Amino acid sequence: MGPPLAPAAASGAAPDLSAAVLREVGQPLTHEALTMAPLGPDEVACTVIAAGLCRTDVAVADGAMIRRIPLVLGHECVVQPMTAGVGGERFVITPYPVAKYTSIGRDSALRYRAQIPVGSGLRGTDGSIVHQFAQIGAFATKVVVDRRRLIPLAASVPDEIAAVIGCAVTTGVDAVLDTAEVAPDDEVVVVGCGGVGLSAIMGARWRGGRVTAIDTNADKEAAALEAGAMAFIHANAGGAPAILDALPVLPTVVVEAAGSTAAIVTAIGIAAPGARVILVGSPPDDGHVSIPAPAIVGNELRVLGHANLRSNPQRSVARVIDGYRSGGLPLDRLVSASFPLTRINEAFAEVRAGRVRKSVIIPDR
Ligand SMILES: [Zn+2]
Repeated sequence: MGPPLAPAAASGAAPDLSAAVLREVGQPLTHEALTMAPLGPDEVACTVIAAGLCRTDVAVADGAMIRRIPLVLGHECVVQPMTAGVGGERFVITPYPVAKYTSIGRDSALRYRAQIPVGSGLRGTDGSIVHQFAQIGAFATKVVVDRRRLIPLAASVPDEIAAVIGCAVTTGVDAVLDTAEVAPDDEVVVVGCGGVGLSAIMGARWRGGRVTAIDTNADKEAAALEAGAMAFIHANAGGAPAILDALPVLPTVVVEAAGSTAAIVTAIGIAAPGARVILVGSPPDDGHVSIPAPAIVGNELRVLGHANLRSNPQRSVARVIDGYRSGGLPLDRLVSASFPLTRINEAFAEVRAGRVRKSVIIPDR
């Protein structure tokens, strides 16, 4: 799998972690030995226990989203700090900043986010910088992160579930609870049944909404129903008109979680007058949509993007864990595969083929 491990650093420093590195878009990740740069005052080195694989990671690897390379992908994980005095055994890392956030207020979140330094804590064997996706880079045996991003984790949450809380679950749940504000009388349609979509289904059911799931992949039906959807529609070439024929009731909330421009057009095309249309899937960097303006104006649609920018990650993670423990969020139905780090390219292939719900990467021990 990938090229053989590179020799030790020319400087003589021992490589102290191994990682899957994106060196070239469209090519397999390569397994490399990296070194950590000296830790900054707010940085903590952590052992990765498990990391979730998000569709966004695949989008970057495939070039649909452009990021600086070389790059260690992976932006949600559960970790154990290697530094003493952090105050806990296991922590969730989310792609979003955490501490001090609550004291500076909701609307300051974007400014605070901008203050988190861009990750440059990894070096290749030639001393050059290897970037960390979302300043995390979780597809590695270790990560170095800003300590303010560590969210303590209760012992009762299994590693594989904790690994996917940081991005997929909190994103899907926050989108339906905070941005859509789903209520028990809502008819909810979730377009796209990947990790975020399945989490959105669970969140909408938890809040008492009636949920119909839609995906272009008919194989997603079982996962959608197990997550709490009451019906599943296989989207085909007929687009919104065909889906409207299959829907018994027009949705008051549509959550687009597929991350494609076609799904956005579909989501807006099936919404009931006055509906909230939440766009939460990560679209390609060059994605543009063309929507008939009267469809939005005449139907008084509220089209809202959701990317967790205004979420409080500590609160979001705590809420999801409460939902899991109470049985409201059946997160154990979400993770369907785990791969060792050495087989990460197989894990990416499974996501591209649509054969997994949510995969977890377990670093080699
Ligand atoms: Zn993600």
